[in-house]
Amino acid sequence: MSDSAARSPGVVWHTHLDRADRWAALGDVRGATAWFTGLSGSGKSTVAAEVERHLVADGQPAYLLDGDNLRHGLNGDLGFSAEDRTENVRRVAEVARLFADAGVVALVPVISPYRAGRDAARQLHVAAGLGFVEVWISTPLEVCEGRDPKGLYARVRAGEMTGLTGVDDPYEPPLAPDVVIDTATVSVDAAAASVLAYLRQ
Ligand code: ADP
Repeated sequence: MSDSAARSPGVVWHTHLDRADRWAALGDVRGATAWFTGLSGSGKSTVAAEVERHLVADGQPAYLLDGDNLRHGLNGDLGFSAEDRTENVRRVAEVARLFADAGVVALVPVISPYRAGRDAARQLHVAAGLGFVEVWISTPLEVCEGRDPKGLYARVRAGEMTGLTGVDDPYEPPLAPDVVIDTATVSVDAAAASVLAYLRQ
């Protein structure tokens, strides 16, 4: 029994409109999740936004579930301890699964530093019969730090903050990612194209 089932023993799962009927009625859409993992500044959000733009232009609903944005709402109670990062990833994975089931391609740029959390996100989708693409944005730390779009590396080097993934917090690289992109050498367009090619398989 799952943890949630154990804590909510009287709660019944309600069935509703069949997924295949929903996807067909919406115009033969195909929901799935593309999960972008990598260091801060590696290019996850930039590439995910480009993939989103292409999919929507093609008539396939897509929605970017930005990890930072979700921390303003759904995950506003979570910080950056190992426990909170794990819960952050668990919640985002659950939301992505719902979007995918609804026929939307959920684009999820979250650092998601731990292998176990990313594997659990994949398992959640596999168990539900939904597509899941793990995209590792493998841009090296030096390049991410040189870009520093949010000023986080400067702050941690100046001793103004701690717990930045890749500097003083761990990052576990994927062992079997579906797509690997180093944006130090691959353009945004080419990166988006490789994710789109995988999604369209
Ligand atoms: P993350 O979401 O991983 O924290 P962002 O996408 O927010 O990273 O930031 C990446 C930064 O790198 C942006 O300022 C982006 O314009 C820049 N950048 C330069 N070249 C690329 C590339 N080829 N792909 C993605 N981002 C790039």
